[in-house]
Amino acid sequence: MRAAVYHGQKDVRIEDVEPGVVGPAQVRVDVETCGICGTDLHEYAAGPIFIPGDDPHPVSGEQLPVTMGHEFSGVVSEVGEGVTSLAEGDAVAINPILCCGECRQCVEGNYHICDSIGFVGLSGGGGGFSESVVVDEHQAVPLVEGVPIEHGALVEPLAVGLHAVRRAGVQAGDSVAVFGSGPIGLSVIQSARAAGAGDIIVSEPRPARRELATESGATTLIDPTETDAVEEVREHTGGGADQTFEVAGIETTYKQSIQATRPHGTTTIVSIFEEEASSHPIDLVLGERTITGTLAYLGGPRSAEEYGMVIDMLASGALDVDPLITARIDLDEIVDRGFESLLDPDSDQVKILVTPR
Ligand SMILES: [Zn+2]
Ligand SMILES: [Zn+2]
Repeated sequence: MRAAVYHGQKDVRIEDVEPGVVGPAQVRVDVETCGICGTDLHEYAAGPIFIPGDDPHPVSGEQLPVTMGHEFSGVVSEVGEGVTSLAEGDAVAINPILCCGECRQCVEGNYHICDSIGFVGLSGGGGGFSESVVVDEHQAVPLVEGVPIEHGALVEPLAVGLHAVRRAGVQAGDSVAVFGSGPIGLSVIQSARAAGAGDIIVSEPRPARRELATESGATTLIDPTETDAVEEVREHTGGGADQTFEVAGIETTYKQSIQATRPHGTTTIVSIFEEEASSHPIDLVLGERTITGTLAYLGGPRSAEEYGMVIDMLASGALDVDPLITARIDLDEIVDRGFESLLDPDSDQVKILVTPR
């Protein structure tokens, strides 16, 4: 079958690979759609980062070259021995988390912060940029009536936003400031809206992304190239937002997100930073601000948790994929019209969906 295979930085090839073999408690999923993630871009432009380069990944046992793609949906086409919750023909979204099942976090059910955390499509185990993928039964989360299969590919990034908002503890009426409105920023904005946030202030330099922020629930927009984003947030909120989210992954927004938080407020870092960023500890001490980080989403062997919540929120209309999807392309186009187009600083692309079949 055809797959987009990562061989190294700026070296992703469309190749013929062997389809995976379905073992006990596993299913084969014929991929319908797979989204290109910011993480994929980091791997393409500056990797390998998450992709195991020199040593095999402790859970998958695999290393370069690996098939990419971790934000995908599809249809179950084969079920292994002992599978009880799924049948051929079921439409599913994939929870790509790979975990050891044995470390303290796994034992506590926090698989997403496993000591050996990995993801299908980055750490081995095949990937959504291929015709089919074999996953464990619990990784294939059934879609519900009213959620098209294509939208299932957005469950992963939307779950990242939902988890960030839940972990931050956003309360109804809270003022929220979001720094960056790429796909994850938009997910955070939508989940903040769903949580009943009051003012949702978004700082984003690209006009097209500010527009999408509005469609996702932003109530106030800031162009940080025109004004002082921190001053602007403080002015709008009377001294700082209750909750701020850093979703751009650069030092400037790291500092801004802390400084724009009100005393006793919380700053949540959602981005995966490529480089170190510094801020002055006095910003935390004066005002007793809290800074925290979030990764991925809850869900795993015991339940679908946040994956299931996102699917229900898509069905009810509390979350909306339309502002996120900006293009649909074929597997052959993944480098030129996918990665390269998203890396272009003048591009208006946000989420590009790839059809691998
Ligand atoms: Zn992702
Ligand atoms: Zn673990």
